[in-house]
Amino acid sequence: MEKFDVTVIGSGPGGYVAAIRCAQLGMKTAIIERYNTLGGTCLNVGCIPSKALLDSSEHFHNAEHNFKEHGIDLKDLKVNLKQMIDRKSSVVKMTCDGINFLMKKNKITVLTGHASFVNKTTIEILKADSKKDQIESAKTIIATGSKPSSLPFIKIDKKRIITSTEALELTEVPNHLIIIGGGVIGLELGSVYARLGSKVSVVEFMDGLIPTMDKSLGKELQRILKKNLGFEFYMKHKVSAVSSKGKEVFVTTDNDKGEKVEIKGDYVLVAVGRRPYTDNLGLEKAGVKLDNKGRVEVNDHLQTNVENIYAIGDVVRGAMLAHKAEEEGVYVAELMVGQKPHMNYNLIPGVVYTWPEVAAVGLTEEQLKEQGKKYKVGSFPFKASGRARASMDTDGFIKVISDETTDEILGVHMIGPRAADMIAEAVVAMEYRASAEDIGRMCHAHPTFTEAMKEACLDATSKRALHI
Ligand code: FAD
Ligand code: NAD
Repeated sequence: MEKFDVTVIGSGPGGYVAAIRCAQLGMKTAIIERYNTLGGTCLNVGCIPSKALLDSSEHFHNAEHNFKEHGIDLKDLKVNLKQMIDRKSSVVKMTCDGINFLMKKNKITVLTGHASFVNKTTIEILKADSKKDQIESAKTIIATGSKPSSLPFIKIDKKRIITSTEALELTEVPNHLIIIGGGVIGLELGSVYARLGSKVSVVEFMDGLIPTMDKSLGKELQRILKKNLGFEFYMKHKVSAVSSKGKEVFVTTDNDKGEKVEIKGDYVLVAVGRRPYTDNLGLEKAGVKLDNKGRVEVNDHLQTNVENIYAIGDVVRGAMLAHKAEEEGVYVAELMVGQKPHMNYNLIPGVVYTWPEVAAVGLTEEQLKEQGKKYKVGSFPFKASGRARASMDTDGFIKVISDETTDEILGVHMIGPRAADMIAEAVVAMEYRASAEDIGRMCHAHPTFTEAMKEACLDATSKRALHI
């Protein structure tokens, strides 16, 4: 039986990054993946394919609605969905092939098949041809990720009643796409199809979109998606039944007045969150405990109750984000060799890739109120940015929250052009515990969208923004 210093189960961004760092640190490393392609949810059916379709559909939307204003006249514009999906698939393939290359480069043994614990140091691998292999591993990192969750009364048929996985592979543009859940997946994939011509209706039981982010962001996003893409919203509506007949789908909801509201469409996307994936992993044989939400229970060092077994990424507590999984992978590898790594969970940025993009890091205004902390708020609208006017991207704002006494930046919440990239400045600033004044006094290139960050900081520090 082959022996390894460390084995990683699952090759998503958590698992493959953990494996690379383990190998870099000199450990004999194996990675086990049940599918034939490496990369997990993120590369195969998550971050990468969704961003590929978001980019393609954004080009189409701009060509149809904005090019004229820029002085570009186009005729006979139409969507070739097959080509769009094919391009997405080739981006996915290229990215997954890149992971194979990285595994070879770092001399990591890749084993294909479903892994399950036999005991705390022996792992069995069930291969596609039903043959089984076993390996010994001194340490193991569980990085088995997550799967879409649903509601108990919904039967996902993968044809008309679908999850994000099927929404990335549709063969036609829906006439009316109903989305259950106004979170990240619903709004990103809803944007794709709305830009391609679908009517999109979002049913959300909370009173705001992207409800875990600062309330101001969801409010502005809702306004913009309605104005720019014609989204229809059923807020504070609770779904009670979903069915399909032929090419039609029917969603029944109860609104906050206790009335029943029926919505009819041709596809329904269920996007109500994801569940940790530990199916047939044999955790009980290794003695690894789950928490009350079905996640692998870990301590502050991402160690399970079994000393030599760690867990990272979507399968443990915290945000279900690829970059959070990656950071945890590096953390565990470094911890295993006796280093003293650090994870700052408060500084994991969150991004929604709609247009405009939404991005945030740190505490929201609602959290600060709840904590009873005294704070100041500064903001700057993109309509006052020369760069944004030049590119016709004047929707949105940057909001900076700083401590009332020390001026330390406590949270940055933005909705606007290229917010996904701009949030990095806020992360660096907050990691170094900058004050709003620090950023307000730094030179930002002109004209750039990042000037809005400087201006919002000037507004937060002492209401002295220069361009509003
Ligand atoms: P996963 O990526 O889920 O990987 C787990 C892997 O383990 C899988 O390959 C699985 O097959 C394998 N596995 C499971 N059990 C076993 C077993 N017993 N044996 C062998 N292998 C096993 N996050 C972002 O940060 N940015 C985004 O833009 C973004 N977009 C997303 C878009 C969509 C549509 C979706 C669905 C998700 C998106 N996410 C995004 C979330 C992101 O994909 C996840 O947070 C991330 O993939 C989690 O990484 P992970 O390594 O923990 O698990
Ligand atoms: P989510 O948690 O972001 O949103 C789910 C939404 O569904 C919430 O707004 C919730 O209030 C609503 N909801 C739940 N039950 C409902 C019901 N019965 N009726 C109506 N609404 C209901 O989950 P998601 O959008 O499915 O995404 C799953 C995970 O994937 C998230 O944790 C997210 O972090 C990750 N993801 C991240 C990105 C990104 O980083 N850009 C993109 C896609 C997915």
